[in-house]
Amino acid sequence: MEQHLVTLLTELVAINSINRTLSAGPGEREIAEFIARRLNDLQLDAAMHDVGPDQRNVAATIAGKDRRRSLLLNAHLDTVGVDGMDQPFSLKRQGDRLYGRGTYDMKGSIAIMLLLADYFTRQVPPLDILLTFVSDEEDKSTGMEYLVEHWLPRVSPAPVGGIFLEPTEEDIGVCHRGFTWCELTVTGRAAHGSRPEEGIDAILPLRAALNAMRDIQAELQGRDPDPLLGCASIHSSIIRGGSELSMIPSRSCLQWERRTLPGESPRDLGRELERILQAVNQHPGGHTAAGSAFFVRPPYRVPDDAEILRRIQKATPQSRRVGLPFWADSALAGAMGIPSVLFGPSGRGAHAINEWVSLGSLIRVYEVIKNLIQSF
Ligand SMILES: [Zn+2]
Repeated sequence: MEQHLVTLLTELVAINSINRTLSAGPGEREIAEFIARRLNDLQLDAAMHDVGPDQRNVAATIAGKDRRRSLLLNAHLDTVGVDGMDQPFSLKRQGDRLYGRGTYDMKGSIAIMLLLADYFTRQVPPLDILLTFVSDEEDKSTGMEYLVEHWLPRVSPAPVGGIFLEPTEEDIGVCHRGFTWCELTVTGRAAHGSRPEEGIDAILPLRAALNAMRDIQAELQGRDPDPLLGCASIHSSIIRGGSELSMIPSRSCLQWERRTLPGESPRDLGRELERILQAVNQHPGGHTAAGSAFFVRPPYRVPDDAEILRRIQKATPQSRRVGLPFWADSALAGAMGIPSVLFGPSGRGAHAINEWVSLGSLIRVYEVIKNLIQSF
C-alpha cells in the first residue's frame, strides 16, 4: 500500500500540471490523460471533458450495489507555479515527508482517489462512487463549473454527499468563506495641468470610497464573529488612474475584494456597494461614478444534519470540525444541493517552495474514506 502510494504520487508529481491562466503553465491535459488511462485500465469508463485550451476534467463512476445512491469524490488537477523551487517535479522522500510541487495541494489526494478506484473496482461498494478530477481550481474553477453545469446534472439521482479531498490536516472542513470582487470607475474631464479649472479630477473622489471601505471594515470587525470563520472583511486591491503628469486625470478605477461569510446575502453586499458609490458621488467635483460586483464566489456551510457529515465524523471520530480560510470548489457542489465536506491529508507548503505531504496521513485519509464508503 505504502509503496503503491509513493510510486503513484511520484508519477503524478512528475507531470507538470501548472495552471495555464494563473501561472502560464501547460495546463491539465497530460495529467488528465494519465488519470483516464489508469481508470480505463481498471475497466472504468473514464470521460474526459474539454473545459478549455489544455484544460481537461476526468470523471468516472464506479457502480455500487445500490445504483440509486451515489457519493461524489473530488480533487483538482492543477497546481500553482514553481518559481524558486529546486526540483519541483521529482518526488523526494525524507522520512514521513514527501516533497514536490502538488504533493500536498493536492496530488496526494489524487493518488488516494486512484487507490480507492483500484480497491472498489475489486470490492463492489455499497453505492455508486463518482470520481471527479477537475481543472483550474487554483484560478477560475472552470473545471468545477463545467462539472456542475454539464456532468453532475446528468447523474441521477443526485449524490447524497460530496468529499473534496483538499488538504485539511485530517480535520473536517464544514464551511469556508466566499468572496466578491467589485469595481468602481470614476469619470472626470481631462485638462492641461496649467488650467486645472477646466478639468474634473477623477482620482480625488476615490478617497471617499477608501474612507467608506475603512468604515465598513471597522463595522465588519465589530460584528459577532462566526465561531469557525471569524469575521467578514473588505480590502482595496487595485487602483488605477491618470495618464500624464501634466494632465488632470479624467478616469480612475478602484477594485476591491469582500470576503463573505455563510448567511450574508447578495443584497447585503449590494447595499455596501451602493454606500461606497454614494460616498463617491457626494464628493464635490462634478465627476460621475459607476460600480459593480463583477465576480462572485459564494460562501458555503454544509448543513448540520447532512448524512455525509454524520458519516465522516463517525469514520474519523478524533477529527475536529473546522472552517477553512480559503474558498474551494465544494461551494459550487453545495450550491447545486450536494452537501459537501472537505477532508484531506496533513503537510505544509501549499503554494510555497517547500511543499510536502505526510505519507502516514495520506494512508489514514485513504482508510477513513474507504471506511466511510463501506458504511453506506
Ligand atoms: Zn487545492
